[in-house]
Amino acid sequence: MTSPAQPPGAHLPEHPDFLWENPEPKASYDVVIVGGGGHGLATAYYLAKVHGITNVAVLEKGWLAGGNMARNTTIIRSNYLWDESSGIYEHSLKLWEGLEEDLGYPILFDQRGVLNLAHSLQDVRDSVRRVNANRLNGIDAEWVDPAGVKEICPIVNVSPDVRYPVLGATYQPRAGIAKHDYVAWGYARAAHAMGVDLIQNCEVTGLETAGGRITAVQTSRGRIAAGKVALCAAGHSSVLAKMAGIRLPLASHPLQALVSELLEPVHPTVVMSNAVHVYVSQAHKGELVMGAGIDSYNGYGQRGSFHIIEQQMSAALELFPVFARAHLLRTWAGIVDVSPDASPIVGLTPVGGLYLNCGWGTGGFKATPGVGDCFAHTIAHDKPHPFNEPFTLERFTTGALVDEHGAAAVAH
Ligand SMILES: Cc1cc2nc3c(=O)[nH]c(=O)nc-3n(C[C@H](O)[C@H](O)[C@H](O)COP(=O)(O)OP(=O)(O)OC[C@H]3O[C@@H](n4cnc5c(N)ncnc54)[C@H](O)[C@@H]3O)c2cc1C
Repeated sequence: MTSPAQPPGAHLPEHPDFLWENPEPKASYDVVIVGGGGHGLATAYYLAKVHGITNVAVLEKGWLAGGNMARNTTIIRSNYLWDESSGIYEHSLKLWEGLEEDLGYPILFDQRGVLNLAHSLQDVRDSVRRVNANRLNGIDAEWVDPAGVKEICPIVNVSPDVRYPVLGATYQPRAGIAKHDYVAWGYARAAHAMGVDLIQNCEVTGLETAGGRITAVQTSRGRIAAGKVALCAAGHSSVLAKMAGIRLPLASHPLQALVSELLEPVHPTVVMSNAVHVYVSQAHKGELVMGAGIDSYNGYGQRGSFHIIEQQMSAALELFPVFARAHLLRTWAGIVDVSPDASPIVGLTPVGGLYLNCGWGTGGFKATPGVGDCFAHTIAHDKPHPFNEPFTLERFTTGALVDEHGAAAVAH
């Protein structure tokens, strides 16, 4: 493998100019969105576009989309086990399919398919069950044997003499990847054009309530009155909710990923393996993009521990011996908030006018359009959209969990 002289993505747009604008916050807004990542920006866009609510501010403590939105590995799929999950993720995938046209901005959405490998008899049984559940929900899903895996992705090692042999895989052809920064800029640009204020370097430090309702946010740039406040601060949701006296069942963990140097196209799809715990795709520019599981300790530092990368590399090499001479270019981490059932919390809170969107753990990028649409509906109507109705905070007391972790055990 050699590096191309001109990376394939070299002609693509630079940062749009409006990102450098940073308006003074107004004294009050109808809706304040805390967090300028993908979810916050998408929510602002659908609030303006679908519900005509444009007196909206997105407050970001750093720079727009510099959190998980900048750090994720961009896998998009909807092949989750339970009806509740496949409902919201498939809604999202359908929106992805029309998003470039909707936003009028390139997002390089590429439906190159996703293989989820099975390495044990139990993996095979769980995977076949998930394929059947997906089909019943109208989601494209196939079970492929090792020869089928090799046909879809010739560089996967399917020989039976490795430590964790590939026994087959689920395949979702409509799944794929997109370019995450363009997705954020596309939403930001369109929301900005409809009158939404995008305010950077503005950290929310307090939430004010009166008579059981939210009234304002305190920020590093002053107090801002708000009719409604929507939290989209992945990784920091419990810190923010606590400012309004709400305790969330979330744990914040670093989640790491890495890229290789730019290489010629060698990897035609996305391959994920839970058993050996690595997943790999090749970005449009040519880097191999690899991710792993969460670091096991809690923390807010956007870096992770080296032993995770080490394990990730040995897993990757077993599956893809062809990568043996590729060089590592960059590693990083983001902070994800993980809920006990590995499903998100999206909806109302005990405080009037305060809404929660959190707990997406390792898999919220793919949900960006879907949750933006559903969360905007929830805020506009003070009532959940049918797709996020199951993902209430109350489920942790009623027991109506959506246990994707125990069921599908598929990360990202
Ligand atoms: C390494 C890695 C790989 C991943 N891979 C995938 C994948 O392949 N597929 C997938 O679907 N998902 C993936 N994810 C998960 C996905 O990135 C997240 O679930 C999703 O991005 C979260 O939503 P967001 O984009 O709004 O978050 P973010 O971009 O993190 O946005 C939250 C924002 O809130 C801001 N904020 C926090 N506190 C405050 C405050 N007090 N005041 C103001 N602003 C505040 C932060 O600065 C941040 O910009 C991955 C995540 C990581 C870290």
